[in-house]
Amino acid sequence: MQGLMMGYPLTVDRILEHANRMYPHKRVSTRLADGTLHRYTYSDLYKRVKRLASALVDLGVKQGDRVATFGWNNYQHLELYFALPGSGAVCHPLNIQLLPEQLAYVVNHAEDRIIFVDAPLLSRFEEVADELEGIEYFVLFNPFDGLETKLSGVLYYEDLMAGADEDFSWEVTDEDDAAALCYTGGTSGEPKGVLYSHRSIYLHTMGANQANAFGLRESDVVMPAVPQYHSMAWGLPYAAAFAGADIVLPGAGFDEAHLLDLILKERVTVPAAVPSVWSDVLRRLRADPTDLWHVRQLVAGGEALPSSLVEAFEQEFGTQVLQCWGMTETSPLGTVSRLSAHHADLPAQEKVKLKVSQGQAVPGVEIRIVDEKGEKLPWDGFAVGEVQVCGPWITKGYYKEERTKKHFTADGWFRTGDVASISEDGYMLISDRIKDLVRSDGEWISSVALENQLMRHPKVREAAIIAIPDEKHGERPLAVVALEPDAGSVTADVFTDHLAPHFPMLWLPDDFVLVDGIPRTVQGKFDKKELGRRHAAGELGA
Ligand code: ADP
Repeated sequence: MQGLMMGYPLTVDRILEHANRMYPHKRVSTRLADGTLHRYTYSDLYKRVKRLASALVDLGVKQGDRVATFGWNNYQHLELYFALPGSGAVCHPLNIQLLPEQLAYVVNHAEDRIIFVDAPLLSRFEEVADELEGIEYFVLFNPFDGLETKLSGVLYYEDLMAGADEDFSWEVTDEDDAAALCYTGGTSGEPKGVLYSHRSIYLHTMGANQANAFGLRESDVVMPAVPQYHSMAWGLPYAAAFAGADIVLPGAGFDEAHLLDLILKERVTVPAAVPSVWSDVLRRLRADPTDLWHVRQLVAGGEALPSSLVEAFEQEFGTQVLQCWGMTETSPLGTVSRLSAHHADLPAQEKVKLKVSQGQAVPGVEIRIVDEKGEKLPWDGFAVGEVQVCGPWITKGYYKEERTKKHFTADGWFRTGDVASISEDGYMLISDRIKDLVRSDGEWISSVALENQLMRHPKVREAAIIAIPDEKHGERPLAVVALEPDAGSVTADVFTDHLAPHFPMLWLPDDFVLVDGIPRTVQGKFDKKELGRRHAAGELGA
């Protein structure tokens, strides 16, 4: 017997409808290039999204067409987050850090028809114009005096908007229709497309807003300082709109001075960024300490969170840190590290340990760990295996990708490529990505654990561990370290002594190479592939 409940379609337009109806006066603020703020309300956002969606249909955009965006975090980009799915199109935020050949590859692979471009970034397309196959229009927002381009098919965002219909009716019917397309960073092989549906975005939004997850509320001021091309800014703009929270968008760049300024002046309650951004903000805060009383939850995710960062924010500035784990493939929210009631009396150090674990699965997502044979492993805090996930906002296959099958198990779970243990009470601790683990004398060495400990040393700014081939041991860990500017000279013994009490002898790196900075991927994470290349080419000095 079937239930007798409504088949209410879970579509993205309904998120905006709710925001407009319930919270028309709540604010969206964007930092502009001149440092001033552009402000408007959800009601303004709603009207402009309607006009934009109508303009898209007038331009000939049809159901399922892929339309790309190329921009920083700003109100126009937010409008596109709603207008594209609302007009039946698929919103495809392009990573603005992509190299020219990667950019052309992704645009052609997605078969984008139109690209909405933050005008200061337009020149990136001039370099690859001849390689782009199906682009009919470049639509520019944030134009500036003296803007010139050789590109054809250039239109202006505000012109399109000006003549468009505010009474547009959403062109969405089926919750399973595609709504957005995000590509992975391509750290291994070509970037792969993850095609979100209206339904998956809607459910991810509800999932993210649960009290045990991001738990956004109407009284929040949310600042996504994570790029809008990175898994839809972690879904935060949708979650904020559904909750009725104010949104602060940092505009061009994630410079720590601007971010801190916005956090303070806009009384941000939930700022979100990758740990490397938070460590830059921390350095600035320490130089000029300020009270962050209004920040109720500082969200960090996307890469391992060093315990030194949690200790600094929580103990020096009284700011609670919330770590989340996820992937483009998981929309991205998979787990969140929030302490449970029974952790209340733990010593401070134990609490920090839990916070730097990736935490518990968000309700709606299932996790498990398996061994090399695919056998499920116990949740005992010791057994380590590959993390697999399933749930309504997890991908079931890459877009136009024939080699999808190897990423899934026979029973349909997604293989994340991350390696972790899970404690009895469900706290996942990632020790590495499978491809970054160091295999020495048949034993797995966790690069993340070594990096974390190295970054606790006061003279270390950043540290990455890579596996290098070794005739005797198979592989050995090599430490690549960037020192704090005032560190002076430091010898390898200092690092070895710092690591030795915490790890078996076999784990200790034989070499420590000093560099000015660790190279980063387009997602802003340590680029270990590049470090490996530099090492193999003899460019690292070890
Ligand atoms: P890419 O796979 O291209 O690097 P993603 O943003 O999808 O881009 O990266 C997802 C990966 O990032 C995860 O599989 C995991 O290895 C890493 N990651 C994400 N969040 C965390 C976290 N909180 N702690 C450790 N690693 C993380």
